[in-house]
Amino acid sequence: MDDVQAVSRNGEDVTIDGGAVEELSTALVGQVVTRESSDYEQARLVWNGMIDRTPALIARCMGTADVVAAVNFARAHDLLLAVRGGAHNAAGFGTCDGGMVIDLSPMRGVLVDPDEQSAWVQGGAKLIDVDRATQLFSLAVPVGVISDTGIAGLTLGGGMGHLRRKYGLTCDSLIGAEVVTADGEVVRCSEDENPELLWGLRGGGGNFGVVTGFNYRAYPVGPEVTLSFVFYPLEDAEGCLRSYREWTGEAPDEISTVVVTGVVPEAEPFSTEARGRAYLAILGMHSGAPEAGEREAQPLREFATPLVDMSGPAPYLAVQTLLDEDYPSHELRYYWKSTFVDSLGDELIGRIIEWSRTQPSPFSTVDIWQGGGQVARVPEDSGAFSGRDAPFLVNVEANWKAPADDDENVQWARGFYGDIEEFSTGTMYFNFPGRLEEGQDLLQSSFGDKYARLAKLKAQYDPKNMFRLNQNIAPQP
Ligand SMILES: Cc1cc2nc3c(=O)[nH]c(=O)nc-3n(C[C@H](O)[C@H](O)[C@H](O)COP(=O)(O)OP(=O)(O)OC[C@H]3O[C@@H](n4cnc5c(N)ncnc54)[C@H](O)[C@@H]3O)c2cc1C
Repeated sequence: MDDVQAVSRNGEDVTIDGGAVEELSTALVGQVVTRESSDYEQARLVWNGMIDRTPALIARCMGTADVVAAVNFARAHDLLLAVRGGAHNAAGFGTCDGGMVIDLSPMRGVLVDPDEQSAWVQGGAKLIDVDRATQLFSLAVPVGVISDTGIAGLTLGGGMGHLRRKYGLTCDSLIGAEVVTADGEVVRCSEDENPELLWGLRGGGGNFGVVTGFNYRAYPVGPEVTLSFVFYPLEDAEGCLRSYREWTGEAPDEISTVVVTGVVPEAEPFSTEARGRAYLAILGMHSGAPEAGEREAQPLREFATPLVDMSGPAPYLAVQTLLDEDYPSHELRYYWKSTFVDSLGDELIGRIIEWSRTQPSPFSTVDIWQGGGQVARVPEDSGAFSGRDAPFLVNVEANWKAPADDDENVQWARGFYGDIEEFSTGTMYFNFPGRLEEGQDLLQSSFGDKYARLAKLKAQYDPKNMFRLNQNIAPQP
């Protein structure tokens, strides 16, 4: 094999001897992809089309032993290192320029224990893998709402989905894990074994090592649930949002909703009159009995005269894949900004509507995630995740096609976010932001008192900050 030109942790140029790369390649059951490999261009892609990075090496791991070999290699050569689960991080944390990527995408196994109501999930699994395996037993782990997302990044950052108000965040269901640490050791954690590491994995990001397996509690869900998906004209948004706010005050835990503003796509099932119009939609799922679902979600359908209403009983798996085609991999460019807010006041409603009217791209949306329920009831010190008491999370999503439109769309998202920042609780949800450098500013204030505890844990498991391409915690013993 040829020598490989790479970049060290500190950004210096490094030449890796071709023989050493060959050795790694032989050691792995999976593959080593270099710039010379025929599938390099495909292998380096991540979900966000804005992220165009060229790692020197990609180690596609087939199991824990492969991950150990890859971590040891990266440490021995002092390489800049990225870890990739589902490659969906909008900021592009799952790749890097000139360094090494440990790619867990071949590791998608899920083993469900229906008696214990739990599931072991490999570190490269997508949400669809978890949903399909658990639904065989009418169980579910609370995960996110787009099935192509990686379970790893989702869990390590928190994890919000349609079951959050009933069963909590994804990280709240995490009861154990297997982690390959910076020194290549395989460490298990649970409430009884290394509980501090488990605490850190519940929202502390990929700071502590490569998680090769996640153990989750699962809950009885489906197979049939009740979907709410009602589109109103944006002209009626103010009244709709006020009614919605009132409804959230009394909403049952079984239902979790997201309000979305956007532009009606030129596609079925939208009528030709509705297509191209600005909308405000209420998306939700009720996980309880179908009769209760229909009854309790009914008010969401009556805020104004809908453009279209797709609400009704639906298989859980259909709800979990409903939005997939709106977020294609590699095709679109994405730049997101999010913040928790402490209320949905009239002033904030007005600004959300104003900015929604001016979005430069028809693919962009603003999402208002409803909090409360179990998310707010789980004790704050149960994990590193912060922000669980906020009643709403606002996520501004600039989504567009042409590179020439980058500036306009990024500026729109920044302008929007800047205008609503005064309503922020000061805590950020780290899974959504769209630039590496921007999430870091709010890191300490978001984790608050937990930051020092996280820094100590980081010093224990990764004192040299090998795992730094994430919501990075500086090691501090
Ligand atoms: C289309 C789309 C829909 C989304 N929907 C939701 C949603 O409904 N709810 C929600 O809460 N969030 C959602 N998100 C945000 C999502 O949770 C984050 O982007 C998350 O980081 C994605 O995880 P990943 O494994 O796919 O990403 P990657 O880019 O692979 O990794 C993200 C981060 O996790 C680290 N990491 C990945 N795998 C491992 C591992 N095995 N061990 C250690 N560290 C690892 C990486 O180093 C990186 O820092 C969505 C994102 C997208 C793009």
